[in-house]
Amino acid sequence: MALPWASAQSKLYLTARITNMKAVYPGSFDPLTLGHLDIIRRASKIFESVELLISENPNKQGVLSIEERIKLVREAVKAEGLSNVTIQSYSGLTVDYAQEHGFKVLLRGMRAASDFEAELEMSQVNNFLSQLETVFLMTSPQYSFIRASRVWELLRLGADISSLVPVNVANYLKEHISGYLQQN
Ligand code: ADP
Repeated sequence: MALPWASAQSKLYLTARITNMKAVYPGSFDPLTLGHLDIIRRASKIFESVELLISENPNKQGVLSIEERIKLVREAVKAEGLSNVTIQSYSGLTVDYAQEHGFKVLLRGMRAASDFEAELEMSQVNNFLSQLETVFLMTSPQYSFIRASRVWELLRLGADISSLVPVNVANYLKEHISGYLQQN
């Protein structure tokens, strides 16, 4: 028999947000994967808003341009109907961006123990620099093996990547990038 408070409590659990708190989710998103999108979707239910921040790294040239990444993320977020998710790019330190734009929380995803050390160190550096707190969401099991570099690896080998990335990203990569990758 259901306990009298159980349904009210689970409803509260599903709908409750950490109100008035916005989070910034930095990363390369080169390209956006289903793992990223899952983190964004779940975070959008927890935080008042989520800003996806495409970090421009002059020392790490991506495969996709920043404009292509922004376009693909924008389309995927729109297709998901996530109205409280925004997209920006930035070429400096994430902590500076966070401070300039009033973010106190940084969002990151964690796939496995192999992510832990780097993420721990980065969150400690960011906290040391600006008291930013990092909130981690654990990957959903079906996405735990997905990383952006694997998408490029598989595309180079001519494999089907459509179960690793959102539909619009898969279509774009097949149309514009896979031929180039296979020849280079
Ligand atoms: P990647 O590691 O795929 O190159 P990014 O550097 O853009 O991606 O990562 C941005 C954030 O997203 C990081 O916190 C990373 O751990 C997280 N992330 C990436 N892929 C996944 C996934 N499959 N599940 C959960 N989090 C992920």
